[in-house]
Amino acid sequence: MDLLDKLRAVASRMEPHAHDRFRPFLTTIDSLINPGEVVIQGRRTLMFGSNNYFGLTNHPEVIAAAKHALDLYGSGTTGSRIANGTLAEHEALEHDFARFFGKRAASIFTTGYQANLGMIGALCGPGDVVMLDAESHASICDATRLSGAEVVWVQHNSPSNLARKLGRLPKHERNRLVVVEGLYSIRGDVAPLREIVEVCREHDAYILVDEAHSFGIYGEHGLGCAEEQGVLEHVDFLVGTFSKTLGGVGGFCVSDHLELREIYFAARAYAFTASGTPASVAGVRAALSIIGRDRSFRDRLWRNVRAFRAGLQGAGYDVGPYESPLIPVYTGPEDVTLALWQGLLEAGVYVNLVVPPGCLKDQCLLRTSCSAAHTPEQVQEAVDIFAQVGSRLGFTPVMT
Ligand code: PMP
Repeated sequence: MDLLDKLRAVASRMEPHAHDRFRPFLTTIDSLINPGEVVIQGRRTLMFGSNNYFGLTNHPEVIAAAKHALDLYGSGTTGSRIANGTLAEHEALEHDFARFFGKRAASIFTTGYQANLGMIGALCGPGDVVMLDAESHASICDATRLSGAEVVWVQHNSPSNLARKLGRLPKHERNRLVVVEGLYSIRGDVAPLREIVEVCREHDAYILVDEAHSFGIYGEHGLGCAEEQGVLEHVDFLVGTFSKTLGGVGGFCVSDHLELREIYFAARAYAFTASGTPASVAGVRAALSIIGRDRSFRDRLWRNVRAFRAGLQGAGYDVGPYESPLIPVYTGPEDVTLALWQGLLEAGVYVNLVVPPGCLKDQCLLRTSCSAAHTPEQVQEAVDIFAQVGSRLGFTPVMT
């Protein structure tokens, strides 16, 4: 028995690809041309695997705000929020988030991962119960495991399964938290939040919704799937990340429970890590303000989603039934998926690779995503490359 065996197992799994030009999970981006195009191994490559849904990473206002904060505060905070790491900028962003959502309290975290770690860790511990959707993101699973609470797995997007499992717990206890996502990031399916919230209310359970991929995109004001489905006021804790639509690094939680303000002392993932860099926090403040006043990003994003989905379908690919900015291309066996992924990169399109353990055997997929920043020409070029590579490799789509 050797601790390094775990790393050696990874090395031996990657060994067959040691001399591949494009090695799975080890892509390096040399530079950025624009949010839709990057340089990989010295070549212009279309970016269709980023969570930069609005392309705000490069928005002039975001960059100006980040530069200004860099000048004002320096490169980092060199401390946690409960020590020297709270700048006026952090508090201003928390205030902005609370106002944006119309919620009474907001907290920000250094990453989205830590937002889940912090929130679930602060709320739940031994003796409590966390009800998790079967397709929960790793940050939610890790948070629950670390919390020491009992985990109850619930069938994916199944309010009836949730009701059955909540019904088995002792009545009149308020020590259970249901955690779901607004938009699931592998298949691009939206949670039936209206029904899930109703079940939570019937069973007196708290609910936390992670809107990592839906914030900015769904709902009248871009607040996410809970807003879109008219249940925002019944969601106890709404978590999100800065690293997608907002184009930064960090995470947030908003709530009407004023107890959220005590998070600074209750969440280890908040207290024992350095706070977000001034540039990142200031950039996100600017991004939030842009999202709040300009709907055109959403319109352009959906235009691109529709065109890209239709183009891929026209080229014979199975992209599943759900229309969302995350477009899965179902490819089946791992070897076929890898060949397509490498062929696409070779031809100038980057997408994300999903193979076991990220999915079940022979249920691999390429995870693509659209941005408002893609031009119609970039979308068409990506579709054309998918068509050429698929036909050159003799790819026959798997129908899900
Ligand atoms: N929650 C979900 C649902 C996610 O998809 C992600 C990131 N992929 C996170 C949380 C973590 O966010 P971050 O990358 O900002 O740490």
